[in-house]
Amino acid sequence: MSGNTQRVQAISELAASKPPVVPPGLSDPEKLFGSDVFGYTAMEKYLPKDVFKSLKHTIERGQAIDSKTADVVAAAMKEWAMAKGVTHYAHIFQPLTGATAEKHDSFLNPDNKGGAIAEFAGKFLIQGEPDASSFPSGGIRVTWEARGYTAWDVTSFAYVVGSTLCIPTAFVSWTGEALDKKTPLLRSMQALNTQAQRILKLFGHEKTAPVVSYAGPEQEYFLIDKRFYLQRPDLLLSGRTLFGAKPAKGQEFEDQYFGVIPERVIAYMQECEKELFKLGVPVKTRHNEVAPSQFEIAPVFESANVAADHQQLIMTTLKRVAERHGMICLLHEKPFAGVNGSGKHVNFSFGNSTQGNMLDPGDTPHENAQFLVFCSAVIRAVHRHGGLLRAAIATANNDHRLGANEAPPAIISIFLGEMLTDVFEQIKAGGAKSSKMKGTLEIGVDVLPKLPKDTGDRNRTSPFAFCGNRFEFRAVGSSQSITGPLIAVNAAITESIDFLATKLEAAVASGKTLNHAVQTLLADVAKESLAVVFNGNGYSAEWHAEAEKRGLPNYKTSVDALPVLERPEVVQLFEKYQILSPRELHSRYEIYLEQYVKTILVEAKLCAKMAKTQILPAALRYQKELTGTLPAGGKLGEQIAGLVGELDKGIGTLESALGHESSGLLDECKHLKDKVLPAMTAIRASADALEGVVADDQWPLPTYQEMLFIR
Ligand code: ADP
Ligand code: MG
Repeated sequence: MSGNTQRVQAISELAASKPPVVPPGLSDPEKLFGSDVFGYTAMEKYLPKDVFKSLKHTIERGQAIDSKTADVVAAAMKEWAMAKGVTHYAHIFQPLTGATAEKHDSFLNPDNKGGAIAEFAGKFLIQGEPDASSFPSGGIRVTWEARGYTAWDVTSFAYVVGSTLCIPTAFVSWTGEALDKKTPLLRSMQALNTQAQRILKLFGHEKTAPVVSYAGPEQEYFLIDKRFYLQRPDLLLSGRTLFGAKPAKGQEFEDQYFGVIPERVIAYMQECEKELFKLGVPVKTRHNEVAPSQFEIAPVFESANVAADHQQLIMTTLKRVAERHGMICLLHEKPFAGVNGSGKHVNFSFGNSTQGNMLDPGDTPHENAQFLVFCSAVIRAVHRHGGLLRAAIATANNDHRLGANEAPPAIISIFLGEMLTDVFEQIKAGGAKSSKMKGTLEIGVDVLPKLPKDTGDRNRTSPFAFCGNRFEFRAVGSSQSITGPLIAVNAAITESIDFLATKLEAAVASGKTLNHAVQTLLADVAKESLAVVFNGNGYSAEWHAEAEKRGLPNYKTSVDALPVLERPEVVQLFEKYQILSPRELHSRYEIYLEQYVKTILVEAKLCAKMAKTQILPAALRYQKELTGTLPAGGKLGEQIAGLVGELDKGIGTLESALGHESSGLLDECKHLKDKVLPAMTAIRASADALEGVVADDQWPLPTYQEMLFIR
């Protein structure tokens, strides 16, 4: 069947298909929520009272459990899970690829009578030993010491998917070095807690509950019909279209954003939500996004560690359920050129159960001064470590989106809003007593006026925007694990809180009042760091010039940004707070470069192949047809001949660029960015132009119009 016949068939099948049945909703959502999670409710039911109490305490304190408790907990978990038809258990972990990894083992063990018994000992719950040799380790683990261990993260509940009991774990090498994303995230949360407690103590809050970082990630995604997807080798292998002319209609009518959700999609969303509810993932928001066939799902924020695990579950669920509905969920940052790409806005704050959210301005002046200290820490952190934050979102995929007039620029700046900017400007000026608000402004624990909770204004162009009680890290990519960005944010803020706490403690020890110490210190911090605050249009050319004047880095591509991970100040930052050792950090740098190389190489090979075996043949056949009817093919024939010539030349250029020998990983990345990507763009330009002139019934690939507008 030729490419075109398949296209036509897909469309007629779709036209003939019955409208989807949208389920009426959920009958008892409260009961459903968390029903597949071994959370406190299940624990209480299945565990002896004392074991439950001690486990709960362990979880709340984020400590390790002893082997005796582990045995009891494992037995209870097995009983609970087997009642749900579960036969296997799996340690789930997040290798450095950012994906989710799992290896399943059965509960069943042969007895010596030819039968089998179901067993699950504590040691299998708390520790696993998957064969780790095929996961990237960036040189940490040579193959002969391939041993890797997974260890249960008690702060993230076990859950059931299908016939498997899933246990969230951290993944480390036999030397104890982190081979995953969870381990450094937990370490970074611990570091943040240690430093934040010092500030809380200064403000008179001793022995408060652990401070944790919170994350609320909004996930954007595309849905397309599976029939079209299967005819697009580029989507199949690389997740994005390497070819495709812009359709006559794109997103210019702005009729998609928050528009009525199509029935087929609602049916899909409801099923995703049902699955996620069962897993205790608190998904809350669903809506159409800006581009045609683009949507968003967002949960309520949770502790960063749990949010990161849940985010992985959201991604796998979105993909899995889509296939049941004959669709494919594309999580790539830029599946389609010319319409918006997808991001993952990570809403971030930190706080604890006794003091609440540290980034909430609060209602009283007392809370307010504390808020200003923590908020200053964030501003200072983003100013000092903008490069690191940029590196934390650096992937080949995200490069297509950042700075493309639809997503935040590659320059990391903070949006504070008019009100808060005014407050900080006054702090910087020192001693200013008036503000845009009523009342006078003097920092201190007794006299600061109320700050309004919601400043009202929002900025969609800022990579790091204050939203009234949290920051929204908007530059994160849609297919990315949120763990890396969270680690970077935690680390940067930890260092700033440490800096502020040290200064404040010294000032207070020398007899200064806290009020006075805060006032002086925050003025200094504002002088040093306010350059990172920008409330204007981040898409504008003026901002790029202005940012340069302010000395803010502008790493346009991942290849420019990733070497930041090798900078001494970044290495020291992670080492000082014991989040990543220099070796662990370096391994990550290598893995991210490797991933960049792999991604572009797959795309480049595919680009050449599709151009040679699908696009060029279609154009040549049509050209021949034209020459048979019109003298020399007429004007159209001339045009096609020109484009065919360009395409052929472009393929040659790409293939010779692919023959390049690099002297190392970074060199290879640079070559791919400077030579290979432009060659692919040139090929695409001729191919997309050909799409506009070759007879539609001979075009071998589903078009943008078909993929984006047919449901
Ligand atoms: P938007 O208007 O930005 O699209 P959404 O409602 O889609 O907002 O998503 C906002 C996200 O921010 C949700 O996940 C929400 O739970 C989360 N959020 C709210 N408050 C906080 C907070 N204090 N810390 C972290 N995340 C938060
Ligand atoms: Mg949203």
